[in-house]
This record gives sequence, structure tokens and C-alpha cells, in this order.
Amino acid sequence: MDDKKYIGIDIGGMSIKGGVVDGGGRILYKSAITIEPCKPDSEILSDIAGLVKSLLEATGLDKEDVAGIGVGCPGSVYDEKGVVRYSCNINFRNTPMAEMLSKLSGIPNVKISNDANCAALGETLFGAGNGAQNSVMITLGTGVGTGIVVNGKLLTGNCSAGAEGGHITINMGGRMCGCGKKGHFEAYASATGLIAQTSEACAKHPDSLLAKIAAQDGINGKTVFIAAKQGDKVAKAVIKRYLNYVGTGLVIFANIFFPEVIIVGGGISNEGDTIIKPLSKYVAKNIYGAEYNPPIKVVAATLRNDAGVVGAAALCFDD
Ligand SMILES: [Zn+2]
Repeated sequence: MDDKKYIGIDIGGMSIKGGVVDGGGRILYKSAITIEPCKPDSEILSDIAGLVKSLLEATGLDKEDVAGIGVGCPGSVYDEKGVVRYSCNINFRNTPMAEMLSKLSGIPNVKISNDANCAALGETLFGAGNGAQNSVMITLGTGVGTGIVVNGKLLTGNCSAGAEGGHITINMGGRMCGCGKKGHFEAYASATGLIAQTSEACAKHPDSLLAKIAAQDGINGKTVFIAAKQGDKVAKAVIKRYLNYVGTGLVIFANIFFPEVIIVGGGISNEGDTIIKPLSKYVAKNIYGAEYNPPIKVVAATLRNDAGVVGAAALCFDD
């Protein structure tokens, strides 16, 4: 561990979070600004530089005190070149983010990566991974994000276009995925996929408690868990099947990477042991060579909203 200071920036669809982070992954100070995603990229970068300046002012640091700025950005990010190729909801198109932010902030060392990768790095080194060197993190949200850490470093593939585990096929010709292809892990394991499975179960079992709760309150990612806690069999069956889908994906990652730990994040991970225990069992039972290899821990993410900021800062930790 060093006593250097870093800045982590986590760009989201609605806001941009920033924090001053020390070499041990602790956030010393954090702040956020709202984002106008349709503005030209140069203006968004100016806003981020303003956030950096405010973080420095609040902590009494000079820019010379900062060893680097790390940025996590949604979309397709070319880490090595510091370029955001494309971001779905924000106006980044081949934006040379690292270069622009370096000029605007006066801090030369700027590193960027995809936001799911940054969250994975933060959770692995300083959160639920408890310092593991090898991990896979899956984020079960609107989509499914995956981040892979091998020997303490993000594995992102050629031109950092890889680690898109949400789009592995778990069912040929199956459900339509957000990416336009069928049968992908994301189509089953995301909150969106769970909502679709819940909705289908309600249509099939209109007399179930699940259907009644859904009719009254609408359906979101929590609905099926609420009904299951009240003993509804239909809801329990939906969850069991859903966790088998999630588990199928986890076993694929586990067989390829054999990480020390699999970290489950995103809104659905708030269900805690209700999903973590069965997933843990599923992985233990279905992984190749289970009886001879060390066990793989399956844990829920712990840093929550801070994972992106800590992980982004950690992109600069070796410099
Ligand atoms: Zn897909």
C-alpha cells in the first residue's frame, strides 16, 4: 500500500460520482454532479474536470498530489488508448477521454475502463473479494455486466472489447437479448429477464399470490421475492428456475477462469442469502472437478455505489 492519493470517477446515466481515494482503496471524500447526457462530449468532460477541481479543493490537495485519475464509463471503452468508442446513453463517440481530461484537469495520468470492469476491480481488491487476485463479478441489473480479474488485473481482451459475459449463449434460440440476439445469459439473468419470467408466471397462474401482488403493485425485480417470502409456490418456482439460469452462467465463468471468488452485484444482489446460498450450492455442485479443486466462494457485493469510484481509482494504482 502507498500513501498516494487518486481520483476515481464513475460515470452513470444520470450522474457522475467522484471521490478522492487512497492507496488502500478508502474513499477520503466523495461528491457527485448531475449529467446532461446529450451535451457535446467536450462539455461533459469540462463538467468532470470541474468535479475533479472541487474534489481537490474540498480535500486541500494540489493536482501535483494526485497520482492519477481513473474513470469508469458505460459503453465500449478502449482502455489502452483512453478512448470511449461508444456509449449508448451518453454522447461519447470515439471520445479521446483520457487525453481530454488530462488537459482539462492538469493531471497527466488518466486511465479509463468500462464501468462494470471498474466495479469488478473495486469489489475484488477492496470489497466483497477481500483482496482476491482472481475473481469474476456479475452485475444483475437492467442488463448483466461482467468484470474479470486475473492476477489482480482486469482481463479485457483485444482492444479491451472482451469480458462481455452477459452475451454468452445459455439457451440456443431462446429469449431475445437487449443486444438483438437470442438466448444470451443477460436475457435470463438480468432484472429485465426476471421481470419477464415473473410476468409469464402471473399470466399462467392468475390465482397465485404472485399474480395478486403483481396486479396490485406492478412487477419489478423484487416482486417475485416478496411473494416467495409469503410462501407462494409459484413465486418460489420462478426464483428456483431463475437461479438455475444465473448459476449456469456462473459455472461457465468458473470453469474458464476458476476464480477464488464470484461476486454478485446489482439490484438483485440486495436479496442477499436468498440468492447467494442457492447460487453457491449450484456452483459447488456443477463445476468441473469439484471434488478435487478448492471451493469457489460466491458472495454478494459490499461496496455498492462506491465500487465504481474505488475501482476507477485502482486503475492507476500501479503507476
Ligand atoms: Zn446479448
